[in-house]
Amino acid sequence: MMRLPAFEYLKPRTVADAVKYLKDRGPEAMLVAGGTDLFPNMKRRQFEPSALVGLRGIRELHGVRATNGGLTIGSGTTLTQVATHAEVARRYPALATAAGLVSSPQLRNMGTLGGNVCVDTRCNYYNQTYDWRKAIGFCMKKDGDICLVAPSSPRCWAVSSSDTAPVLWALGATARLAGPAGERTLPVAALFKDDGIEYLAKRPDEILTEIALPPDEGWASVYLKLRRRGSFDFPVLGVAVAVRREGDVVQEARIVLGAVASQPREATAAAASLIGQRLTSDAITRAAELAAGPSKPLDNTDFSHPYRKKVTRVYVARALARIAGLDSGPSSYEAGG
Ligand SMILES: Cc1cc2nc3c(=O)[nH]c(=O)nc-3n(C[C@H](O)[C@H](O)[C@H](O)COP(=O)(O)OP(=O)(O)OC[C@H]3O[C@@H](n4cnc5c(N)ncnc54)[C@H](O)[C@@H]3O)c2cc1C
Ligand code: SF4
Repeated sequence: MMRLPAFEYLKPRTVADAVKYLKDRGPEAMLVAGGTDLFPNMKRRQFEPSALVGLRGIRELHGVRATNGGLTIGSGTTLTQVATHAEVARRYPALATAAGLVSSPQLRNMGTLGGNVCVDTRCNYYNQTYDWRKAIGFCMKKDGDICLVAPSSPRCWAVSSSDTAPVLWALGATARLAGPAGERTLPVAALFKDDGIEYLAKRPDEILTEIALPPDEGWASVYLKLRRRGSFDFPVLGVAVAVRREGDVVQEARIVLGAVASQPREATAAAASLIGQRLTSDAITRAAELAAGPSKPLDNTDFSHPYRKKVTRVYVARALARIAGLDSGPSSYEAGG
């Protein structure tokens, strides 16, 4: 059985205290929210913090409230709360769907929106026990110095595997961060970097405190997920689509792909092709073809990467057809579905 190593556990009651604890402990400390990803990673020695700053006891991080015509969700709000919140489900259905498709009910009861946005990138050569990783000589994401997927590459290609991140990007959400230098707000689209190790633009001493969703008037959104097991699994592909129409005509659109790169990847040409169009079968087919372009998975997660690229156009077409009322299938599919 894998055991957790010893560590110091700090229990701040305010964001200000959490920022202070994090700053005082420096790079040896990590934040923990629900712990559903962090604790397994600590057991496998992918993370080796000597101190954890626990966010669960900070009341100001919990809950959903109406703000500026949209909704603001505290980073400590659980995925179950996000998935089942009536206003989230009515106004931002893609987010409720994505939150409700993360892992299993038990993990959604503990796991938080903030933890899901900041969740570590994944790779077949990294999400393994210490002994497994040691046997193959480690890799640059932890304990080693080369990439085992692309040995001549100077960077890590581990895959962004959050279900909610592409959705928040597509919805035009913003993230609020608190750190020693104060607070700042940035678009969720600017929160991610295309690097499997440094995958967040957030500084290590900053805490994600809340996510703000803009007004939803005129917008429709859909999230579709492909995974191996229908019961629970990380996404092999996530497709988040948000479209604003006046009458039948598309005014604004965002298509963001999850699990195809080290960060969520926006399919901008595909979305641009929809502007001024009705969501006809032809327009959907054209956009879906264009969306496959930025989908460039490597051979480092589940299923073959040519398959994962190929199904991108299928899932984007399905998502757009769902918005157009031309498709009423499920939100998650197992392979082959
Ligand atoms: C079996 C299994 C299946 C899973 N399936 C999925 C899946 O299908 N989809 C999916 O997206 N995820 C999945 N996960 C990963 C994980 O459960 C979720 O991503 C969950 O939402 C993480 O939230 P948490 O609150 O538990 O984060 P934690 O585990 O507490 O933290 C995750 C990371 O985020 C950081 N962090 C947490 N909160 C903050 C904050 N407020 N500010 C800054 N940094 C923060 C932590 O330091 C850590 O690096 C799975 C995990 C397991 C074990
Ligand atoms: S992509 Fe390369 S460096 Fe990154 S985790 Fe995988 S093997 Fe390691």
